[in-house]
Amino acid sequence: MSVSEQLENIRGVQDEERLQIIRDALQQLGMDKVDIETDFLRYLYHTMGRGLESESYYLFKALSYSVRDRLMTRWKKTWEAYNAEQSKKAYYLSMEFLIGRSLSNNLLNLGIESETEQALYDLGLKFEDVESAERDAGLGNGGLGRLAACFMDSCATLQLPVMGYGLRYEYGMFKQLIQNGYQLEEPDHWLGLGPYPWEVMRDEYTQTIKFGGVTKQYTDPHTGQLIVHWDHGEEVQAVPFDVPIPGFKNETVNTLRLWSATAQEGFDLHEFNAGSYHEAVSKKAAAENITMVLYPNDSSENGKALRLKQQYFLVSASLQDVVCQWKAKYGNFDGFAANNAFQLNDTHPSLAVAELMRLLIDEEHMQWDQAWQITTQTMAYTNHTLLPEALERWSVELFKSLLPRLLDIIYEINHRFLQQVSMKWPADNERLSRMSIIDEGNNVCMAYLAIVGSHSINGVAALHSELLKEGLFNDFYQLWPEKFNNKTNGVTQRRWLAGCNPKLRALLKDKIGEDWVTDLSQLEQIEAFIKDESFKQAWYEVKQHNKQRLAYMVEKETGVVFDTASLFDVQVKRIHEYKRQLLNALHIIHLYARIKRGDIENWTNRCVLIGGKAAPGYAMAKQIIKLIGNISQVVNNDPDIGDKLKVVFFPNYRVSAMEVICPGTDLSEQISTAGKEASGTGNMKFMMNGALTIGTLDGANVEIREAVTDENFFLFGLATSEVEELKKHYQPQECINRSESLQAVMNLLESGHFNQFECGIFDEIIASIKSPNDPWMTLADFDSYIAVQQQAADLYRHQSQWIEKSIINSARSGIFSTDRTMAEYNDEIWNLVPIELE
Ligand SMILES: *Cc1c(COP(=O)(O)O)cnc(C)c1O
Repeated sequence: MSVSEQLENIRGVQDEERLQIIRDALQQLGMDKVDIETDFLRYLYHTMGRGLESESYYLFKALSYSVRDRLMTRWKKTWEAYNAEQSKKAYYLSMEFLIGRSLSNNLLNLGIESETEQALYDLGLKFEDVESAERDAGLGNGGLGRLAACFMDSCATLQLPVMGYGLRYEYGMFKQLIQNGYQLEEPDHWLGLGPYPWEVMRDEYTQTIKFGGVTKQYTDPHTGQLIVHWDHGEEVQAVPFDVPIPGFKNETVNTLRLWSATAQEGFDLHEFNAGSYHEAVSKKAAAENITMVLYPNDSSENGKALRLKQQYFLVSASLQDVVCQWKAKYGNFDGFAANNAFQLNDTHPSLAVAELMRLLIDEEHMQWDQAWQITTQTMAYTNHTLLPEALERWSVELFKSLLPRLLDIIYEINHRFLQQVSMKWPADNERLSRMSIIDEGNNVCMAYLAIVGSHSINGVAALHSELLKEGLFNDFYQLWPEKFNNKTNGVTQRRWLAGCNPKLRALLKDKIGEDWVTDLSQLEQIEAFIKDESFKQAWYEVKQHNKQRLAYMVEKETGVVFDTASLFDVQVKRIHEYKRQLLNALHIIHLYARIKRGDIENWTNRCVLIGGKAAPGYAMAKQIIKLIGNISQVVNNDPDIGDKLKVVFFPNYRVSAMEVICPGTDLSEQISTAGKEASGTGNMKFMMNGALTIGTLDGANVEIREAVTDENFFLFGLATSEVEELKKHYQPQECINRSESLQAVMNLLESGHFNQFECGIFDEIIASIKSPNDPWMTLADFDSYIAVQQQAADLYRHQSQWIEKSIINSARSGIFSTDRTMAEYNDEIWNLVPIELE
């Protein structure tokens, strides 16, 4: 209902004066300094009962409520505009949204940063202090979850009617503590400090989710139609909490809807009366368990029943939400396929294929073929990994006990699909068994379910999408080549440049204005200034400022002092063997060995920062953290080393830390084994902020290198095909034998130099890299890695050249904006019409 319609409904409003009062009450709030100051104080004093002297967390909350008020009318207007006409909408289904902080991002997009900073300043407060009291919303593991958050920002900025659907985990990504070099996990009870200011509970959209029980078939006595009834066991309520997603200065506020699980009534009265008080309460606890905690495994499968429940909970709640609202509005499903698009972020929500079939057939009594047409026309699947251990498979047993009706439907989907396969390839039983959604081990292969049920399948970087077609999904590619496409990832320049690098933003504004904030290709214009000495000097000063800011944070967290004259060499990302933090560690040992033997002619001082979380059950990744910690202890405390080399393991890497890290980085480490990193997005954040990349031909590195050309990129290592070829006869001992540098490194490592009082703790690491079966082939790339590291070090001593390359990297980062990525999803998959708001 529009505001004017609501006004007409208010009884007794006759006189114009009263009407005007109500109109004023519903007016958009003022955006001036004084308006913000007034609201901030009102929330602080009158709503929260506190004052200016209170802890910064309360100041943050009062300010956030004031900002949220300014999103509300815009949010409602956006919602109304999207529903006013029959316009197609897209839904981004994701188990993860790694949002981070929202206050300064919302101020940026509302265009009221300086007004707000001024308002606080006038009250004797510093914006930085208030802002840093916000806890990260860590509802994701790493790249995949952060991508979803960047997508939301870009869709709102492009005014695309896209809604995000996710889970409201009570505990987000764990907090990483480092004790004696080892990772400890601490629960992240991010909602513990009172309500999250950026959410609004919309319990009127609550949905019921069914689990367990059995299915029964019967024939309808009137129509003769076969009906399946799911006689379910447990019921859980899904309550939505909406988070506003403002576009950049465009009046659009999109919605991220996060579902929270709760029991039906709180108490089961029947059991309560029967004296089973404890059972009744524990039912409630069991229901709430579903959204209690994010699974902290990045790129690795997890066979736990609760995880499957989470996936179904997300999918069922979201699809019911969409279907209910559609039905309430149109009454039939004629236009449904043409007006709705579901994008599946990896296989995690791929149950959507079976659940939409269930809703259409069981609840809406549609025929199979029609339901299948609607499903395949609306579903699209994004693949995020080639690692076999990350491909989700759930046992049929588990399915049968938790989701019996869904299993029936998957069997039927598979049956019809395999018929299609055998029509195309008669008597090819091997192919049939390779392509079956149910594998030989009696597991449901979620990726195949997603492929069969979708009209679009995309990888997330050019190389990755090619490898999908050639390898993992080749059979499916042969069957349906038209379904496969590429959508190279990106990051939003609002957060990852304008927001996190205010000094660079100011310099850019001075030179080329601010159009790049919504059109990143504009950054190309700064290339015209790469020979302009005063611009180069300004560029250098910005980088130095950001390095100083990073050095402060490093010293505060670790006690280690970074000298900003050194080369800042950074690798931050989840700890995983394929990402090869070990290769980085070997290089550090190599530099240490060189200093110790006096091989330091033309030395470049270097500060190495490594950070990232290890999955709590991933023992090898945890040992890698310990190794880096031990190396840093030896290096940082050796007087022979001094400022030539500093090493830290930075604890608790997260979005808000990256906002300080990427602007202060000179050299970005993107050193995964070729063919293993689907895209990477950290690489793009660094590039945008003027870091040079040292990397393999993997993921989006390939496209970064193409954009900047070879002379502005430090390339090393085997290419994907070379990795595959070498795999057949890989002998790491040969790599050691032919490299004196590697021998020196291995001698230090194997002699226990970095674990003098911790006998044998790195034996497994040593064995893994020396094994002919090492899938990551760390030693194979060692020599070329240290050679290119030396080139980087040499170039860094020629500051003028380094700065030019830094400018070029930033200037050509335009294609790595999620604005470009989202425009491609829209042009080639969704076909939504942007909806402009006044
Ligand atoms: C960008 C980002 C990632 C992804 O980094 P990759 O290097 O692409 O793996 C992970 N975690 C956080 C907190 C990020 O901001």
